[in-house]
Amino acid sequence: MVLDNLGSSLRGSLDTLSGKSRVGEDDIEEIVKEIQRSLLQADVDVSLVMELSDSIKTRALEEEPPGGTTARDHVLSIVYEELVSLVGESTEIPLENQTILLAGLQGSGKTTTSAKMAWWFSKKGLRPAVIQTDTFRPGAYDQAKEMCARAEVDFYGNPDNDDPVDIARKGLEETADADIHIVDTAGRHALEDDLIAEIEEIESAVDPDRSLLVLDAAIGQGAKDQAKQFDESIGINGVVITKLDGTAKGGGALTAVNETDSSIAFLGSGETVQDVERFEPNSFISRLLG
Ligand code: GDP
Repeated sequence: MVLDNLGSSLRGSLDTLSGKSRVGEDDIEEIVKEIQRSLLQADVDVSLVMELSDSIKTRALEEEPPGGTTARDHVLSIVYEELVSLVGESTEIPLENQTILLAGLQGSGKTTTSAKMAWWFSKKGLRPAVIQTDTFRPGAYDQAKEMCARAEVDFYGNPDNDDPVDIARKGLEETADADIHIVDTAGRHALEDDLIAEIEEIESAVDPDRSLLVLDAAIGQGAKDQAKQFDESIGINGVVITKLDGTAKGGGALTAVNETDSSIAFLGSGETVQDVERFEPNSFISRLLG
């Protein structure tokens, strides 16, 4: 079990259990309160926090610690297991030929993420290509092209074509030699009908193996509507949380994970193509609690 950074007050509460052979209700209340405080501060949805709290309380009071386990270690392992179940395991991303569609609102970090993911796949020895279908946001084409050049990965886009579906189809043909096709799509400022209609058309044209929803770490409970809409229209298989280098801890994105019954795939932590990592529950939990 690895929990490097539990937060000093939670660690303190757990330490009050040291030397005790049984856990009292007051002890658990205190520990759960610390966890709630951190998770709510990290933008985790109240109902998710409550569910987690109930599970921890019930288990800590009802389950017998295995022989030789101290009360502290027993509670710690329950807390850990419940937190892992809250944040989920990483979305499975097989290292094989596939098409990935990125969805999200404008500014969430889709274009940046497409180049970052392409860079990540190239470091795994695969040949990725980014297909830029965002004809809506001025500058999206140049930005994607430039980032792909920096990542040294194939790129397709056409600033003279204003039909995203046509670009997507041609892009797949033109980059047929690539193993991984990452299709970046346009966002809007809000969930407008034309955005949903457009992404549905792109989705049927490219027939992706997985569709990932890109969310800014600062997203609060707005994540719910976005996740629901995109899931209903194209089906969401995973979430990417961007801008984790800022102050936001990304707990709001867990609402999207819950809503779409998916998991987190990648984390973005900067503006350059290398600032990407696969989601890993332990370090994300530490970040939420820290
Ligand atoms: P899109 O409209 O969804 O394609 O969003 P962009 O990829 O253009 O990103 C919007 C802004 O956020 C740009 O200025 C990016 O440089 C910035 N950005 C994207 N991802 C990250 C990140 O992980 N960290 C930081 N600090 N900035 C990011």
